[in-house]
Amino acid sequence: MQIFKYVKKLQERVAEQRKAGKQIGFVPTMGALHQGHIALIERAAAENDYVVCSIFVNPTQFNDASDLVKYPRTINADLAKLYAAGCSAVFVPTVAEIYPKNAAPTPVVDFEQLMEVLEGVHRPGHFDGMVQVVHRLLDIARPDNLYMGQKDYQQQAIIRHMLKAIASEIKLTTCKTVRENDGLAMSSRNTRLTEAQRAIAPTIHATLTSVAEKIGEQSIQDIEAWATEQLTKKGFVVDYFSIVDGESLQSIESFEAADTVVVATAAYLGDIRLIDNLIL
Ligand code: AMP
Repeated sequence: MQIFKYVKKLQERVAEQRKAGKQIGFVPTMGALHQGHIALIERAAAENDYVVCSIFVNPTQFNDASDLVKYPRTINADLAKLYAAGCSAVFVPTVAEIYPKNAAPTPVVDFEQLMEVLEGVHRPGHFDGMVQVVHRLLDIARPDNLYMGQKDYQQQAIIRHMLKAIASEIKLTTCKTVRENDGLAMSSRNTRLTEAQRAIAPTIHATLTSVAEKIGEQSIQDIEAWATEQLTKKGFVVDYFSIVDGESLQSIESFEAADTVVVATAAYLGDIRLIDNLIL
């Protein structure tokens, strides 16, 4: 496994691989890696000859400055996990390397309403920063295949839309959410939970799961209100708990109104914001 700090060196190495007819897989991350990230690397390694993982805590996607400062950084442990998972190259650039003055501009894409709902309402500018960095990283790594997690459902929906809009040949594979035994979705932010908060945190998954049992019994709005109340009673401060069309991410009136229905939530425990979702 090689470690790259500079765009040029990584590009040279990837170009050599491509010239040799190798298939390139790419997994963008912000580090503090856990089994959720590693599952993406393993999938990429199974489906490609050469796997690039980026570790870059992207400042432009943090709408909350203290969240950026507190974001966990565990580079040595990350490298050991990537090596064990079969990663070929790790890209650990500086901010200046990712955002030089002459970087290709982020394409102007009509994201329709995808950015204006769910996370977009509560994290202004977050998706603009996320699209900017993913586009830049893809422009650097030029992979055949891109791997992202269902955990960030809206994120992968936005990138899927972008790839289609710019007629990219990169194939996006969304991998299912990896969870702790008690259902809590693995997240780098979980390491910041206190013991008491960690004990409450699985309520998110339990509440998402209960929605499936209520289909047909209650209206969508009533289910959303019920779920918000369940989480609030446990001590969460809920940003949203929404049942949406899995493609447009817009609210739906009934479960029959969309081919794919997704239930998504974001809620705070103290100052730690957790997100999760289920495809119903
Ligand atoms: P992050 O480092 O949080 O930006 O995440 C990097 C990638 O890992 C994103 O595509 C995430 O959706 C994905 N990811 C994060 N947590 C999980 C998880 N628990 N299961 C599957 N994928 C995940």
